[in-house]
Amino acid sequence: MTPEMKDKLRALPAVSVLLEHEEVRGWLAGVARATVVAALQEALDETRRGILEGTCAEPPPVEDLIGRAEELLVQEALPSLRRVVNATGIVLHTSLGRAPLCDAALEALVEGARGYCNVEYELDAGRRGKRQAHIAARLARLTGAEGATVVNNNAAATLLILNTFARGREVIVSRGQLVEIGGSYRLPTIMNASGALLREVGTTNRTRIRDYEEALSDDTAILLRVHTSNYKIVGFTESPTIADLAELAHRTGKLAVDDLGSGSLLDLTQFGLPAEPVVTESIAAGADLVCFSGDKLLGGPQAGLIVGRQELIRRIETNPLMRTYRVDKLTLLALEATLRHYAEAEEAAAKVPTLRLLTASTDQLAERARQLCGQLAAALPDEQFLVCSDVGFAGGGALPAAELETVVVQWRPTGASAEAVVAALRRAEEPVVARIREDAVCFDLRTLAPEDFEPVVAAAEWAAAGEVDRPDDMPPTPAD
Ligand SMILES: *Cc1c(COP(=O)(O)O)cnc(C)c1O
Repeated sequence: MTPEMKDKLRALPAVSVLLEHEEVRGWLAGVARATVVAALQEALDETRRGILEGTCAEPPPVEDLIGRAEELLVQEALPSLRRVVNATGIVLHTSLGRAPLCDAALEALVEGARGYCNVEYELDAGRRGKRQAHIAARLARLTGAEGATVVNNNAAATLLILNTFARGREVIVSRGQLVEIGGSYRLPTIMNASGALLREVGTTNRTRIRDYEEALSDDTAILLRVHTSNYKIVGFTESPTIADLAELAHRTGKLAVDDLGSGSLLDLTQFGLPAEPVVTESIAAGADLVCFSGDKLLGGPQAGLIVGRQELIRRIETNPLMRTYRVDKLTLLALEATLRHYAEAEEAAAKVPTLRLLTASTDQLAERARQLCGQLAAALPDEQFLVCSDVGFAGGGALPAAELETVVVQWRPTGASAEAVVAALRRAEEPVVARIREDAVCFDLRTLAPEDFEPVVAAAEWAAAGEVDRPDDMPPTPAD
């Protein structure tokens, strides 16, 4: 430390001195003293670090220290979890909470969570019941399966299935299906944690039913198919169907399990979307167990759904680990309400936001893009906004290779880089997460509702006003 640094550090006021400042005394009327002291301390610590690192040339005036402490207090008063506007166009954005819930789910949550609900209680008999029972029958009906159950997420569903039926035994998987969905989910790691032994067969691009057959032994418990959720192997490829795997499994006394990842309860091609595996089809093809997520294409809360043979479901439910993946009443309330819409395909497409967003036509999106573009241009007459067509992705490991046509409002900011503007949009009072394409900021109408336009315009005005000095430290990432 240089003598100058020592002098600068010595020149900083003590917390006790700042506490006597008139403005700070005013804060103490409404904020706990310890909170105020912590904010002042942090403002001083930041300044000390600046002096030691040589980034702070002069000790700041007391007013600046107090101003910084006030900023910290305001930040602390804000909740950490906040509503954000998703302008990325990625409908199932894992970082932004995946599926937005339908109105019926929201109403069920408010009604059921404000007070008490019969989560584990049979009202007719007046005795303890099973929490999964509220959705099991409906889910089985919707998928054509004998039985169904629900856990916290699809990762838990996979692990439970493997642990229940293949601990210490082998699970055969194609080398083309050893997926990593995101850093926290890699199939071989989950397999390891479950106690099952991974037996890889085939090659990256081609695996035949004979490869499974040759790998079969007394140690084999499961033939597992995994949906390659976020990638697609194209070209010279081959992999057996779930019907092929089921036939082999049943002939040899093994289980055929299908991890569909996103999985859909409806055939999406009826809405003009690319094909995504349908749960009913896997069950009809003979899969003993099928698992999929609640908050991907299904459009409900985070959950892992398992459907299949009743006897196997019962064994999963009696695995002691089941208790550690137990879903709470919030999940069950939202899930039941979402599933109720699936009695009719049309109703689901109209009422479940994930399906509504994915099936919106480009004409609809273009119409809304023109509205948003007009509002932005009116608010910021010196900036250039343009309606363009573009391609986006569903996200959440759904429709992996399908590029969905979309419409965006493009903004090439005049006074700052697109990176700086996107970073500023995220720090707006109502944060907006946008993406960048060819050095332009893009607001993708696939995920923007008309009620989002006002916060988008407000954030754009704020970003254009020059609050754009911080580097873009956290670009939005595609969903995993
Ligand atoms: C998404 C996915 C998972 C993990 O599901 P979560 O509900 O996120 O836990 C597992 N397997 C596949 C194939 C997936 O696509």
